[in-house]
Amino acid sequence: MPRISKSMADVLSEQANRELASAYTYLAMSAWADEQNLQGASSWLRIQWEEELSHATKLIDYIAERGGRADLKAIPEPQADYQGLHDAFRSVLRHEEEVTGAINQVYELAVAEKDYATQTLLDWYVNEQVEEENQPAKIISMLDLAADSPSGLLMVDRHLAGRARVE
Ligand code: FE
Ligand code: CA
Repeated sequence: MPRISKSMADVLSEQANRELASAYTYLAMSAWADEQNLQGASSWLRIQWEEELSHATKLIDYIAERGGRADLKAIPEPQADYQGLHDAFRSVLRHEEEVTGAINQVYELAVAEKDYATQTLLDWYVNEQVEEENQPAKIISMLDLAADSPSGLLMVDRHLAGRARVE
């Protein structure tokens, strides 16, 4: 397996940075939800924070395996406040749609460079993004059904509390 190209390593590093920015956004959102007494949402978002950290480290480890080194940059300050749970999960969905677009662009470089190993790695991310967009879309639908009623909101929050950590 040839050493990873500098251009490919740089683009994968940028993707690792985006995953870390996602993680930070979810962590801040989790703190916001906790303050709102939405313990289920807070826990769900904290699990997603952990997941995003693993998305980043998977890329960093892969670059190393291919003889490169991740070039890590500053992570932007995350949004601290939301109008409510609806607003928060709409923001999650928009964010994940952007991540999907970014991954597709990284994929295009791997195709252009005929880097098949990186394409295989990225297949995992392409698949993961299906779930990453589907989850907030389903939660938004549930919140639509709850129609901003306090009891509906509590039911959605209780549902979110049920998310288990995946190893
Ligand atoms: Fe991710
Ligand atoms: Ca996921």
